[in-house]
Amino acid sequence: MDLYPGLQRLTIIRSNLRTIQARVFSKNPQLRYINLSKNPMLTTLSWQIFEPLQLLELHLEEVIFACGCEIRWLQLWQQRGEAGLSSQQLYCASDGINIQLQDMNISSCDLPVIRVSHSNLTVVEGDRVTAICNGSGAPLPDLDWPDNGLHSATSHGARVYNNSILSINITLVNVSRDDNNFLLTCTATNIVGMTNASVQLTVHFPPTIVKLKEPERRHDTCIEFTVRGSPHPTLRWFYNDKEIYHTEYVRPDMDIYQDDIEGCLTFKNPTHHNNGNYTLMAINYLGVVTSTVYGHFLDKPFDEQVPITPTAETHKPEEDTFGVSVAVGLTGFACVMLVVFFLLISKYGRRSKFNMKGPVAVISGEENSASPLHHVNHGIISPCMLDVGPDAVVIGMTRIPIIENPQYFRHGHNCNKPVTYVQHIKRQDIILKRELGEGAFGKVFLAECYNLSSAKDKMLVAVKTLKDPTLAARKDFQREAELLTNLQHEHIVKFYGVCADGEPLSMVFEYMKHGDLNKFLRAHGPDAMILVDGQPLQTNSELGLSQMLHIASQIAAGMIYLASQHFVHRDLATRNCLVGNGLLVKIGDFGMSRDIYSTDYYRVGGHTMLPIRWMPPESIMYRKFTTESDVWSFGVILWEIFTYGKQPWFQLANNEVIECITQGRVLESPRLCPKEVNDIMLGCWQREPQQRLNIKDIQKKLFTMMKATPVYLDILG
Ligand code: AMP
Repeated sequence: MDLYPGLQRLTIIRSNLRTIQARVFSKNPQLRYINLSKNPMLTTLSWQIFEPLQLLELHLEEVIFACGCEIRWLQLWQQRGEAGLSSQQLYCASDGINIQLQDMNISSCDLPVIRVSHSNLTVVEGDRVTAICNGSGAPLPDLDWPDNGLHSATSHGARVYNNSILSINITLVNVSRDDNNFLLTCTATNIVGMTNASVQLTVHFPPTIVKLKEPERRHDTCIEFTVRGSPHPTLRWFYNDKEIYHTEYVRPDMDIYQDDIEGCLTFKNPTHHNNGNYTLMAINYLGVVTSTVYGHFLDKPFDEQVPITPTAETHKPEEDTFGVSVAVGLTGFACVMLVVFFLLISKYGRRSKFNMKGPVAVISGEENSASPLHHVNHGIISPCMLDVGPDAVVIGMTRIPIIENPQYFRHGHNCNKPVTYVQHIKRQDIILKRELGEGAFGKVFLAECYNLSSAKDKMLVAVKTLKDPTLAARKDFQREAELLTNLQHEHIVKFYGVCADGEPLSMVFEYMKHGDLNKFLRAHGPDAMILVDGQPLQTNSELGLSQMLHIASQIAAGMIYLASQHFVHRDLATRNCLVGNGLLVKIGDFGMSRDIYSTDYYRVGGHTMLPIRWMPPESIMYRKFTTESDVWSFGVILWEIFTYGKQPWFQLANNEVIECITQGRVLESPRLCPKEVNDIMLGCWQREPQQRLNIKDIQKKLFTMMKATPVYLDILG
C-alpha cells in the first residue's frame, strides 16, 4: 500500500482475503472509500486498520465475522453511524449461528476509561512540569503519552499498576515557548479502541515583535504588526516618541490568537502630517520590547511656493495628541482646495459627489434623489408575462434558496475532466471562537484552524456549517466544495476544504475580517453610526472615491478570472463579496442566497429564488445566464457601492422591479457618482448582451480612474 499515497478508493471484493494488518493504510491518508464486502474468508478486522483514515464509507456487506471482543469496535462504529455502517446489515457467527452484529453481547469488553492529573498546566519557559495519566478498563488498556509535535525535551515515568488502574507520567524538561497551548494527550488503547484525555499547556514567555511593516504609500492606511508573548502583552504606540492614545483618527485594530496578536495601527484618512516614526512597545510581566518603523502615507501635496495659511501650520499631529482631523487639518489648504473643487465640478459634471452639501439622503423625495421611483410609471402595472407568482416579497424565508447553477455539475460529470478531490480537514483541528453570521445553509463561525499551512501552525478561518442536512443539501454542499476547490484567485475567497468527520458538515474558508461588502458599505456610509448601549458613539470613516473604485476594480478582477474559467456566477451582488484587511475585496459566495438578505430574492415557481434586482431582462424573461448577464450584475454592484449599500430599486416591490427592468428602465445614477463611473454602469446595462462592456475593459477603466484619483480628495467624501 505504501506505493499509493494518493489512493482515495479501494475495493477488494469476492476474493480470498483473510486478514488485514493493523496500520496497513498508514501511508494512504487520502483513503475515503473502502469496499471489503463479499469476502468469505475474512473473519475479523482491527479498528487500528482504519484509525488513521477519515473514511466516508466502509462497506462490509456479506462478510461474516467471528463474534468476539475483536469486532466490538465495529458494533460501536455501527451504532454511532460511522463511515456509512449504520445502513448496512452486518453479521457475526457464534457456534455456527449467524447473528446480527447489533445483537452481539460480549462481557468485559469495552473502551478504556482514562483520567489525567490536570486539565491545564501553566509554566514559565525553561521550567519543568509533570503530568500523570491513569487508565482502567476491561480489557486493561495500554497507556502512552505520545510526544510527537512537542518542542520541549521529555522523560516518561514507568508504568505503575495499582488497584486495576494503570498510571504513567510525563515530565517536560526545559519547557519551550513553542509548546504554548500544546494539548498534551495521553492515550489508552485496547482491542476495542482508543480513548484519550488531554492537558492544556500554557507556557509564559516575554514578548517579541515578529512583524512591524512599513505602510505602503497611498493606499495603505495601516501599519501591520504581529507580536508574540504569553500572557498576551499590553501594546503601546508612540509617534515620534510621544505616546499615541486612541482617537477617532488612529486606533489599533487587532485579532488575538492564542499566543500572537496580529493587527493594524489603523489611520482614518492619513495625510503627510501622519508621516513619521512609529514605535510599538509590547509589555508583559516577563519583559518589554520595542520596535520602530517609518510610516510614509502621502507626499506633501503642494510645493513650497503655494501660500499656506498659518492655521494649517499650527495644526500638526505633534502639537495636538496625534490624529489629524481631515476636516480640520485641511482648512489651511482651503484656497488650493477651492481650485481643485472647481476643477472637479467641471470634470465630473452636475452629479459629482463634490456637488453635495452634507450627508447624502439616498432615500428622499428630492429632485436629484437616487430613488428608482424616478423611472417608474406609477400607473397601473400591466400583468406579468412571466411565470412568477404575484406576491413578490418573500419574508421569513428559511433554507430554500438555491439558484441552481448548472456549472456545479461541471466537475465529475465531464468524462474529460479529472474528478475533483476536496481537501478534508480534521474536526479536532478546528476550534470555534464565535458566530459570524447565518447563511442559507447554516451558521458561519470564526475559528482557529491548525495544520492548514506549513508556514503557520494555526490560522483564523471562517467555518460555514450545514445544519440538519437532507440528502439534497449534502449533495449541494459537496458540489459547492468541488466548485470552490477548482476556483483559485486572489479576488475569490480562499477555500481550504471541508470537515466531514461527524456533524455538522462544514466548509472552511479564509477569514475576511470585515464580513460581507453590503454590510461594510452601509457601515461606511454617511448615515452609519456605531452604537454603544444604544447610544451613538462615533461614525465610521466614510468611503471616498478612490476607495470605492478600488473595491469595484477588485470585484471586476475576480470576475475576469471567473469568465476565464467560463464560470457564470449568476448571483453577483455586494452581499456575496467579502472584505478583508486593507480594503481587500473578494467574491465570496457561489450561488447560495441568504436568509438575512431574503428580500433581495424573488421566489418563482415555489422553490427557485432569483435575485431579480441584479438581473438583466434576458435572465428575467428567459432564464438566460451568461458572462454578459454577470456584467449587468456588476453594473448593479457599482450602483450599490456608490449608494453605500442601498438595495437596488428599494422603493419597488419585486413585481414592479420586473416590470421596470423588462421595459428597459435602468437605475438612476447615484448622486455621488462621477460621470465616468455612471458611463460604466450604463455600459453594463445595455439591453443587448453583446453590446455590454467587456469585464476586462471595465476593470482597466476602473483601475486607471483609481490611480488617477488623488487620495486626498477622499477627505471631501
Ligand atoms: P453566507 O453563508 O455566505 O451567506 O454567510 C453569512 C454571513 O457570514 C455573511 O453575511 C458574512 O457576514 C459572514 N461570513 C461568511 N463568510 C465569511 C468569511 N469568509 N469571513 C468572514 N465572514 C464571513
